[in-house]
Amino acid sequence: MTAQDHQHVRPWRMIERRKSRKIRVGNVEVGGDAPITVQSMTNTVTADAAATIDQIRQLEEAGADIVRVSCPDEESTAAFKTIAKAAKVPLVADIHFHYKRGIEAAQAGAACLRINPGNIGSAARVKEVVQAARDHGCSMRIGVNAGSLERELLERYGEPCPEAMVESALNHAKILQDHDFHEFKISVKASDPFLTVAAYQQLAEAIDCPLHLGVTEAGPLRAGTIKSSIGLGSMLWAGIGDTIRVSLAADPVEEIKVGFDILKSLGLRHRGVNIIACPSCARQGFNVIKTVETLEERLAHISTPMSLSIIGCVVNGPGEALFTDIGFTGGGKGAGMVYRAGKPDHKMDNDKMVEHIVELVEAKAAELEAAKAENLQAAE
Ligand code: SF4
Repeated sequence: MTAQDHQHVRPWRMIERRKSRKIRVGNVEVGGDAPITVQSMTNTVTADAAATIDQIRQLEEAGADIVRVSCPDEESTAAFKTIAKAAKVPLVADIHFHYKRGIEAAQAGAACLRINPGNIGSAARVKEVVQAARDHGCSMRIGVNAGSLERELLERYGEPCPEAMVESALNHAKILQDHDFHEFKISVKASDPFLTVAAYQQLAEAIDCPLHLGVTEAGPLRAGTIKSSIGLGSMLWAGIGDTIRVSLAADPVEEIKVGFDILKSLGLRHRGVNIIACPSCARQGFNVIKTVETLEERLAHISTPMSLSIIGCVVNGPGEALFTDIGFTGGGKGAGMVYRAGKPDHKMDNDKMVEHIVELVEAKAAELEAAKAENLQAAE
């Protein structure tokens, strides 16, 4: 049993996911028992295909499962074809109002259209978009935002509230259902986490489609991360949510990192090295903060899920190491103890420790990947 399996047998860590219908976004499954996916959105000019592809690459390297690209004009959907061909992950085309952009994006290789059918005008237009989605194997995302609710709903409810957001979402969904189109997911986002969570809770009860979670316009890197962690974290903890997007006024790559960290914290998904570190104090046997900063950077390329504990002294070091694949605990005389699979293994000098830990983690990742490949082969 690995250190991670060990954590999974504890019943108080279990999250029971809401049972949603499964849909596909290109080759990625969303909903049902599929892993919760992490997505972000490019902020380049879409018509600049090279810049957009470059950003998609960075997002892919950070682990993005799905990337959204906005299509505000014809130049964007024209570039979308080149972009979709180059992207390794499925792309969602973000469409607002212009139904023609939706049709063009579907033809250009979008795996999903983010479009609200109630906003695109006549029934004939809706029919055309749904047909284009069907013809090209696109799913859809209905994206309700508290800041852009229909006027009629705002007048009736007085202000954006969970009930108005859910009603809006269900109205859009009904249009797709009436066209016998069921490959859709829904989001009901607000910048206020209370409103967001209440809306998703009601929506989760009202429909069985997969839910795309997000606290919209959450803010700058630190404050937005905290707001998203509270909002998304409480929903995910309650089992709600099939795909997530963290909205930060920051590099989109940060959104992917934060998204994975939220899922990792809840044990819902594991990617890369989960570093457990103490805050350090006068007892530390080496500089914990600086070491962890360096290790985080040096291990960013590892996507294999594993855990590493870097603890300043024996007060908590051996205990934390018990639950990690690799551990280091500061000791005396310029050296510390290296742990493997929870057991003390050998001593290592503090000044050689970073290189050593990087080597150990890389070797462990290679070993885990080889075992995974062997298991896959055996299963086939
Ligand atoms: S583990 Fe040791 S060094 Fe780290 S904070 Fe606790 S007492 Fe201080």
